[in-house]
Amino acid sequence: MRHRIAVVGGGPGGLTFARVLHRHDHPVTVLERDPAPDARPPGGTLDLHEKLGQLALEKAGLLAEFQALSRPEGQAMRILDTDGTVLRDWPARPDDQAHPEIDRGQLRDLLLGPLDVQWGRDVTEVVPETEDGVLVRFADGRQEAFDLVIGADGAWSRVRPAVSPATPHYTGITAVETSLDDVDTRHPDLARLIGDGSLAVYGVNRAIVAQRNSGGHVKAYAQFRAPLDWHTNLERHMGLIGHADLDLADVEAVRSGLPALFDGWAAPVLDLLRHGTAFVHRPLYVLPVSHTWTHVPGVTLLGDAAHLMPPLGAGANLAMLEGAELAESVAAASGPGDLDEAVRAFEEQMWARAGRWAKITTAGLERLVSPDPAEAIALFDEVQPA
Ligand SMILES: Cc1cc2nc3c(=O)[nH]c(=O)nc-3n(C[C@H](O)[C@H](O)[C@H](O)COP(=O)(O)OP(=O)(O)OC[C@H]3O[C@@H](n4cnc5c(N)ncnc54)[C@H](O)[C@@H]3O)c2cc1C
Repeated sequence: MRHRIAVVGGGPGGLTFARVLHRHDHPVTVLERDPAPDARPPGGTLDLHEKLGQLALEKAGLLAEFQALSRPEGQAMRILDTDGTVLRDWPARPDDQAHPEIDRGQLRDLLLGPLDVQWGRDVTEVVPETEDGVLVRFADGRQEAFDLVIGADGAWSRVRPAVSPATPHYTGITAVETSLDDVDTRHPDLARLIGDGSLAVYGVNRAIVAQRNSGGHVKAYAQFRAPLDWHTNLERHMGLIGHADLDLADVEAVRSGLPALFDGWAAPVLDLLRHGTAFVHRPLYVLPVSHTWTHVPGVTLLGDAAHLMPPLGAGANLAMLEGAELAESVAAASGPGDLDEAVRAFEEQMWARAGRWAKITTAGLERLVSPDPAEAIALFDEVQPA
């Protein structure tokens, strides 16, 4: 018996789910809001862990292709003091497959492969347990019924309300992301400073992190503790005397205004912001740690939709492994009650593992953007190989 399965969201979690089902010759409908795969910039680089994201790719039959594309050298990590002194420098071993980096766009294309994604399908609501099955409603007024709907639609999931009233809350920490292109030719000093992987600088309640992507592209993140409306009055909210509003839509204003939050930091570090080409405001939101719900037949969640947590290298990995595991269970479920049993078992496993990671990443974020910058260094000393 073939169940009618839909996954809402074509991010790392939804695509891994669909790709593994595809490998098991099980039909799946992938509903993605973006009108096309390259409708918006795909974002920065992801490190995929051997026992999480890479295991998921193995289940999808894509591990060898991942290894050909990924950058083990991207695991290099350097920490500077705010005055530019190198405090830590961990080079990457070229054969180290613990958590190599891959550009999100490359990962998306790898997962897409033969999948027939329905682009431009903006889901507004999911209604469980109707006569026809689970109803999926779309922004254009259409609706379709399925036996199982997976919400892999990220932080602001439209599927989540069908199983849980939880909504993400602000962590008190904001990131502003910027990009630098062609660093090796345009900014060779910055290219050397960043090295092959990541560079991080930690100050009091502030951090600047830069990560090399492929093709000489760098993403840099200014992170700081601030109220959500910090940019509306920099003097009141950020203590910057004489600074008023910062118009986040004005690239030039952000480029010249943002470094004021890092007063006294070494010039080359601030150049990461001064040479940025576009700026994206990313207040960090999370779902409650250990978010669970009463099982609802025919609907479940995975990835950020289920357990949005601080971006400390786990979210995409978990989403992918959950997608792969759920797909394997769904493909093996043949009888009428089997599918629901498979989903229940999946949820228990996901909640336990994601709950552990949510605790780790929540504590980690507190230490990385901390009143005591020594906490950030101590965290890296604990997790980096000696
Ligand atoms: C700056 C930053 C760095 C990060 N670095 C890492 C890292 O190194 N390693 C790591 O593991 N994680 C990292 N993460 C976390 C990671 O990005 C997320 O956890 C991961 O993308 C979650 O995958 P997902 O498939 O659950 O959701 P998403 O990636 O959010 O994908 C959701 C998809 O659903 C679609 N969608 C949304 N709403 C609808 C709708 N109504 N209808 C149809 N489609 C819809 C979206 O367009 C999107 O394609 C980082 C996050 C940030 C912000």
